[in-house]
Amino acid sequence: MDFRFSTEEEAFRTEVQEFLKSELKPGWDDRFDTESELGAMEQGDFAKQFNKKLAERGWIALPWPKEYGGLGATVMQQVVFNEAMAYTGAPTGFNMGVAWVGPSLMIYGTDEQKREFLPKITNLEHIWCTLYSEPASGSDLAALQTRAVRDGDEWVINGQKIWTSGAHRSNWGWLAARTDPNAPKHKGISMFLVPMDSPGIEIRPLVNMAGQHGFNEVFFEDVRIPANYLVGQENQGWYQLAVALDFERSSIAGSARGRRVWERLVEFAKNDGQFVGAKPQIRHRLVETGIEIDIAKYLSYRVASLQQAGKIPNYEATIAKLYSSELGQRLARTGIEMLGIYGQLHPKSKHAQLKGSMERYYQLSVAETIAGGTSEVMRGVAAIRGLGLPRG
Ligand SMILES: Cc1cc2nc3c(=O)[nH]c(=O)nc-3n(C[C@H](O)[C@H](O)[C@H](O)COP(=O)(O)OP(=O)(O)OC[C@H]3O[C@@H](n4cnc5c(N)ncnc54)[C@H](O)[C@@H]3O)c2cc1C
Repeated sequence: MDFRFSTEEEAFRTEVQEFLKSELKPGWDDRFDTESELGAMEQGDFAKQFNKKLAERGWIALPWPKEYGGLGATVMQQVVFNEAMAYTGAPTGFNMGVAWVGPSLMIYGTDEQKREFLPKITNLEHIWCTLYSEPASGSDLAALQTRAVRDGDEWVINGQKIWTSGAHRSNWGWLAARTDPNAPKHKGISMFLVPMDSPGIEIRPLVNMAGQHGFNEVFFEDVRIPANYLVGQENQGWYQLAVALDFERSSIAGSARGRRVWERLVEFAKNDGQFVGAKPQIRHRLVETGIEIDIAKYLSYRVASLQQAGKIPNYEATIAKLYSSELGQRLARTGIEMLGIYGQLHPKSKHAQLKGSMERYYQLSVAETIAGGTSEVMRGVAAIRGLGLPRG
């Protein structure tokens, strides 16, 4: 087995690492609140400037065709890039325009939609939020109730979404709405592009347990959008939701960021050897989490190499997401326990150790096993598709 990257991929890794070294302020990666998309959105002007520089290099959506602002890069180059970015906690946030709006438009969009929207995703003129979840439909997304009704040249939208990350910072929304209430639930959903400043949209903030305003409730009351903002075929939205398969989905960021956290914990244990580094339970936990970080990395590489070979990863991507998001929580717990009572202190406390990063990491890592599908749902998918077990 040969896990080496190609010479070109290694050269690209060096280029990205050098870019990060010159662009990120010293001590940047002490900031563990960059761990989730919610934290990253809070980083303000520096993040904006930094992302502009990524856009100028065509690095916002590396694998996209050049005409839409990408570089036509391979899956492995994307992995190399994501790994280097996550290791340093670089403020990319999680760009939903790149993750699924663009890929869906490339497959299902009209030529006009592609021309209009794709370049504005890569030049960051359009920032997207994802309007899927509702108070009564999260894991069971197909049960969503927000309605879109055709009225002449327009669609009229009514309903409520919840947990909408970054809605307050987005100018466009990627909406799943019910267009046929009489059809079986998977067969009556359509996808829409929605300007977030449309009259009738109200965004109310939700603050998470780490005290950050990352997600929101979004209310729609008689919101009118042009008919040509429907994407793909009416009532086929459910089947279009899972289209972003051609694009990297290895979850490599989780293990890369975890490695940096772990290295800092090991460093701390070495420097404080007498009290912390000598305790057997801490030594063992550090060794175990170190092994787990490698496992997570190779699970991610497996997904990427399947994609690189033109295959569609299925339960493999599910397992990589499940493992790396749960690993984040185990690692955070290790850090908190290792620092003892100091582990719980907020970065603002003068007594905080490791700049209070473990308290942040611990609180933010909880969301990772919920966002994008809960661990229970991931295990269910892996049981059916990976083990061939019947539906539970
Ligand atoms: C940080 C973060 C960001 C998010 N951002 C967005 C966003 O931008 N846009 C968006 O639309 N949504 C977003 N979400 C919502 C997210 O997709 C949902 O929270 C998630 O899908 C779970 O849905 P739910 O919260 O309704 O929980 P539920 O589906 O109600 O689940 C409740 C519990 O039941 C369990 N459960 C449910 N179904 C099953 C099953 N079949 N088998 C076993 N157990 C099950 C779950 O695992 C969970 O423990 C975000 C969530 C988080 C945490």
